[in-house]
Amino acid sequence: MFHGVQYYPEHWPEERWAIDVSMMQEAGINVVRMGEFAWSKLEPHEGTPDFGWMDRAVALLDAHGIKTIMCTPSRTPPPWVFDRYPGVKNVSADGHTVNYGFRYTVGLSHSEFKQLSQGIDRAVIEHFKGNDAIIGWQVDNEIGMNNDCYCERCRRRFHGYLERKFGSIEALNAAWGAHFWSFHFTTWEEVPLPYLNPQLSLEYRRFLSDLNVEFTRWRSELIHELDPGKFVTTNFQSFSVKHTDYAQLAKVIDLNGMNHYPARSPELILDYYRGARGTMLPVEQFTRLLEVDTGPGWMRLWAYMAIAHGACGVNFFRWRCCRWGPEQHRDGILPHDGLRARRYDELSQMGAEIAHIGERIDRTRPQSEVAILMSYEARWALEAGTRIQEWDPAQDVIAVHDTLRDQNVPTDALDPREDLSSYRLVFAPRLFSIDNQSAENLLAFVENGGTLCLTAPSGVVDEFNVSFDTPRPGPLAAAAGIRVSDLSPLHEPLPLHSVAIPGLEGAEASVLSDEIHPDTADVLATYASGWREGLPAVTSHRFCKGRVIYVGTSLRGDGLLALVTYLCGEAGVAGLCDTPAGLHVYQRVGSDERLWFALNYTEQALSFTLPGTWLDALSGETCTGETEVAPLDLRILASAIE
Ligand SMILES: [Zn+2]
Repeated sequence: MFHGVQYYPEHWPEERWAIDVSMMQEAGINVVRMGEFAWSKLEPHEGTPDFGWMDRAVALLDAHGIKTIMCTPSRTPPPWVFDRYPGVKNVSADGHTVNYGFRYTVGLSHSEFKQLSQGIDRAVIEHFKGNDAIIGWQVDNEIGMNNDCYCERCRRRFHGYLERKFGSIEALNAAWGAHFWSFHFTTWEEVPLPYLNPQLSLEYRRFLSDLNVEFTRWRSELIHELDPGKFVTTNFQSFSVKHTDYAQLAKVIDLNGMNHYPARSPELILDYYRGARGTMLPVEQFTRLLEVDTGPGWMRLWAYMAIAHGACGVNFFRWRCCRWGPEQHRDGILPHDGLRARRYDELSQMGAEIAHIGERIDRTRPQSEVAILMSYEARWALEAGTRIQEWDPAQDVIAVHDTLRDQNVPTDALDPREDLSSYRLVFAPRLFSIDNQSAENLLAFVENGGTLCLTAPSGVVDEFNVSFDTPRPGPLAAAAGIRVSDLSPLHEPLPLHSVAIPGLEGAEASVLSDEIHPDTADVLATYASGWREGLPAVTSHRFCKGRVIYVGTSLRGDGLLALVTYLCGEAGVAGLCDTPAGLHVYQRVGSDERLWFALNYTEQALSFTLPGTWLDALSGETCTGETEVAPLDLRILASAIE
């Protein structure tokens, strides 16, 4: 299990390194990530690379038992690149050339940048290949951030992408729906940059995402060729960012890396970024943020939250607060003065714990009977088509995930094209677009006995962001037993009436509302006031061996809890145990033992009742019945599997 930190040797005098590395060793650090922003230090002048300083840093760390995840550094070019090759600069959607001065101000498909970046990345990989002190590679950093480019050169590349995808301009016209506002193209060159057209906007989003995936694939394949046996990762960025389809990016790397800043990102991303791979590594884990008041205990607790969700370790960001630059007043284990303080003590405590039980945790994985689906394509399609941020599918996905988490129900979070055969219950909130592959996948899941819960607005458009000319939810309408004719916002919450779902009576519908016409479906809840009074809000339909629930609105709070509780009960899914608010239990399962992680996110001691007898893996204490977890602390409880 990795217990790591981000280290920037280039930020500090070389005589300081020995102090840093000794302190890391003492804190149990076994890995560092280095080099993602080091291009200007690795190649200070064009064509004259200097790897000596990084060689010395890698060797010093290795001599103290600390391995390195080396990064390719090409996404933050040094000043000489912009000076000599101004064509690398990207252009924002409003047509302005983005000037040098921030990160990621280059266009990925610009030939100058492509050549220069492949040059430095190949040089770094060739230099460090075969070095046993390097255990793996990270391609770049936060792939895709700010790299969108809307210049004429990229527009021409987009035309090539369209030609490869559609084959003929008439096929494109047919797929996008011709003639609206005179949008009927006779040549590829006529296709403009995306503005308001939902079909064009979605495809340009895919084009940009593909550039990021291809950027990563080229480097990943080169690493596998030149430095075989090493893993390749990259870090998926914050959940609010939707520039790249991470489900596609995951396919060109070996280990899903991610940023984990829980004060500003939902717990869902730990499951979603773990995805179908089943494991992930936070390569950047919260230590402190200037805007968040974080006392002792949180850094360690959030790290264990990631491990409980399947992380194969944690890499803290970063070793020491930097004295300069745009992130001067942000993250760091050590304060600016470089002296030991409370976060170093927490790091050391965790280092001792990981040394004690890390291998045991490594032999386990999360295990779920419930999955939540979310697709970047559905988010892009909805945004391009409606431009209503409040309807972002992520909002409903997060709400459902949080509710399951509060009930201690282990949950996977996946792209809708992933294998669903092992689940009993699948939530697909606001699955606005449904492509053929997703439709077949979801139908097969229901046909084989699964319970599928869709929420509005689902099945609105196809893979081209074109509205279905069959009843909504499109390819799932027959399985859902309903026809949805209209979608409207709910400016005020509306009370619901339900006898079928305990606890839903009087709960509020909010945000939006589908007009549902139940053909063969049963109505489980109706609206209780306004012009919608008596109209269906929630329906249920048996289909083959399974069942489709359609929630024609958004539920929050008690209403969502009632729905989730009802569906878990119907599907035969149970939470691990009951816990008071603020105490959550997570599970990892191996071949010979089950581990429960009980995390107390409050500043008061909390207790819960354990079923049977467990061993506290950290203290060795036997636990049974009423079990207390100290404030901002955790227990890792083990139970043998017979
Ligand atoms: Zn461009």
